[in-house]
Amino acid sequence: MTPQLPTPQEMLANLVAFDTTSRDSNLPLIEFVQSYLADFGVSSELVPNTQGDKTSLFATVGPAGTGGIGLSGHTDVVPVDGQNWSTDPFTLSEKNGRLYGRGSADMKGFIACVLAAIPDLVRRDLRIPIHLLFSYDEEIGCIGVRPMIAQLGSRFPRPSIVIVGEPTSMNVVDAHKSINAFVTGVTGHEAHSSATHIGVNAIEIASELIAELGRIGDDMRKRTGGHRFNPPYTTVNVGTIEGGTALNIIPKRCSFKWEFRGLPGIDEKEIGNRIRSFADQALIPKMHAVSDATGIDIRQITHVPAFFSRDGSEAVSLILKLAEKNETHTVSYGTEAGLFEKDGCPTVICGPGDIEHAHKPDEFVSISDLDACMRFLSRLADHAESGL
Ligand SMILES: [Zn+2]
Repeated sequence: MTPQLPTPQEMLANLVAFDTTSRDSNLPLIEFVQSYLADFGVSSELVPNTQGDKTSLFATVGPAGTGGIGLSGHTDVVPVDGQNWSTDPFTLSEKNGRLYGRGSADMKGFIACVLAAIPDLVRRDLRIPIHLLFSYDEEIGCIGVRPMIAQLGSRFPRPSIVIVGEPTSMNVVDAHKSINAFVTGVTGHEAHSSATHIGVNAIEIASELIAELGRIGDDMRKRTGGHRFNPPYTTVNVGTIEGGTALNIIPKRCSFKWEFRGLPGIDEKEIGNRIRSFADQALIPKMHAVSDATGIDIRQITHVPAFFSRDGSEAVSLILKLAEKNETHTVSYGTEAGLFEKDGCPTVICGPGDIEHAHKPDEFVSISDLDACMRFLSRLADHAESGL
């Protein structure tokens, strides 16, 4: 029996129907992909998480051995909680040339195109292998791809080029900032609100730390080193804060989450060191003067490395040619690209859809973007077939 040849749109409808919100399992989607690939004689290998409820997938079309071109995509999506959608987010809906659904742009559209290209890839006599690298838990800090990257060069071949298909409207992206997220917990000393002389107010201490982060952010703004980025400097932001129990109690606890997004090439330790030494020098002595049980805990919870292709990267010039573009771009969101690049895989980001529409209600990818991605993959297949 000849397997059915799906269009990218039909494939995307299949993928969107699997609710792969990062907190949930992606196994049903991966099983679907595995059996689809198997229909075309492509075997795939899994890299499950320790709980066994999520997995990455690695597969190769073409000759075995090292090198080749990796097509990388994350299978998880951000939640739809609290978002006001006009259509069911897990049913792909077409309207005016746009395909609406959670993950349509970020980034099941790319995965759908890659899967729809499989029948063409397997019928060709590829000299350069094409690898599929599908991950999970990207949306919560590029977690899932790391164990798979750790096995490149041993269990799996290490691709000579990786294309991360995050939404770039099919532009070629060769750089993004790093993401560094922290949680800071302040332990103060509880007392009646009238007895400020014997208490340590955790909210006040947190406020001093936050004011210092503001000053650090101002300093970063003066160091504009990355003119290709918008904005062209490292940014610092405090995202959430909680603390205190009642108006008439000096609060014992306050914690806040903050992040910085660093330009490629900066000293990534600087900001953490600066806030820690401010805590140690300006705050801890006065806190300990009241109670030794007080303290400040600054803990990094996420690090997604910055991404920048090496100058004159062959990967960039090849992908520019295949994408029929003349110039590279930067993006302001983090991706798995920095992790691949760090592991020695020259990487670019290029995929259908616009990041402007990702993570929002009524997320969509345009049919024309999917078509452009299919043409790109077909030129990529020509290249892999020629072996040049
Ligand atoms: Zn994404």
